[in-house]
Amino acid sequence: MPVTAAAADLREPNAHGADADVLRRQDPQIADVLAGEGRRQADSLQLIAAENFVSPAVLAALGSPLANKYAEGYPGARYHGGCEYADAAERIAVQRATALFGAEHANVQAHSGSSAVLAAYAALLRPGDTVLAMGLAHGGHLTHGSPANFSGRWFDFVPYGVDAESGLIDHEQVRVLAHEHRPKAIVCGSISYPRHIDYAAFREIADEVGACLIADAAHPMGLVAGGSAPSPVPYADVVCATTHKVLRGPRGGMLLCGGELAERIDRAVSPFTQGGAQMHTIAAKAVAFGEAASPGFAAYTRQVVANARALAGALARAGLLITTGGTDTHLITADPAPLGVDGRIARARLAAAGIVLDTCALPYGDGRGIRLGTAAVTSQGMGAADMERIAALFTAALRDDPDEAGKVRAEVRELVGRYPPYRG
Ligand SMILES: *Cc1c(COP(=O)(O)O)cnc(C)c1O
Repeated sequence: MPVTAAAADLREPNAHGADADVLRRQDPQIADVLAGEGRRQADSLQLIAAENFVSPAVLAALGSPLANKYAEGYPGARYHGGCEYADAAERIAVQRATALFGAEHANVQAHSGSSAVLAAYAALLRPGDTVLAMGLAHGGHLTHGSPANFSGRWFDFVPYGVDAESGLIDHEQVRVLAHEHRPKAIVCGSISYPRHIDYAAFREIADEVGACLIADAAHPMGLVAGGSAPSPVPYADVVCATTHKVLRGPRGGMLLCGGELAERIDRAVSPFTQGGAQMHTIAAKAVAFGEAASPGFAAYTRQVVANARALAGALARAGLLITTGGTDTHLITADPAPLGVDGRIARARLAAAGIVLDTCALPYGDGRGIRLGTAAVTSQGMGAADMERIAALFTAALRDDPDEAGKVRAEVRELVGRYPPYRG
């Protein structure tokens, strides 16, 4: 489906101007909250690795009349009447997703990345099955066996990790654990791994022990769409992803698989784990897939990676310990200990200066590290020179100096003021 390049231009007038006025008249309390959040996003530096700025077109689809529609089931086979436009939206979303990622089948109904993983497990596993996945302290997601999550309660997870020296996934350890535990499934994917994942290596190990391979590619999927990261689609039995993060769509999940698993995956999403699909979100996913197929999006993903490399390099020169020594993606994890702070203190001091990011587990260090990404600032139009500036603001903010914090806050305002995420 053709999409105009202008659809990806974030600096169009905000499609929501008129609706915002209606909301303000009816419910000033919530209107104030939303306006405050808009100001917060525009007024501080958004470095959370999982966040991005969606286009006005995506926002328009989210606020569309499809928000009213019940459409349980799949196109052409719904439990509800009046689904002709809901069907059209979902068919377009599925067609664009399969074309974008070269997959035989796409399910675009999963409410979130976690719901997508739940559905993949439901399609391929039974409670009590053994699953090999990255340990949470090494970068695994909650759905990869956390005791606080359904995954850890219903399946028997065996964790693999990264090498203590290099910070890279230790494929030999994965192989040894796979042969020892004979898992039903191997999961590859992480919330904090900054390097490309070697899907072929995981496929080989899975084949050696007769396991299926689930790629949980929520973070890199946008880079995959833009040709800036290797695709898990040729290697994994099922690929789970979010449509937010680098992919720059609405908050939601998706699954990709071969034709032979299509029906099992669809039934695992609905009716097994979900009821009615969120059709406004599915329309917004279609819009985002259309944008991601444009040459402008490929260039965007290249800039995201170039910015992450520039920022990692500048932070390393400032003294932070960059996990794996750099990045292949949008994502950087670092230990700020050489600057005399741990991740929690770093996050608080940076937040006071208007620099927003996360802490993360450090597989072998004490305390926590920091995790940041360049998807959002690149959507705003920032480039490599701005990354040098951000690194300088970073180190200034990390000093325990209240005068300095105020100065850095003003400089952050000046920087982001030049790159407004939305006009109007
Ligand atoms: C973000 C992420 C998820 C979860 O996505 P939600 O939409 O927050 O549920 C799952 N797995 C990985 C690897 C992720 O990065």
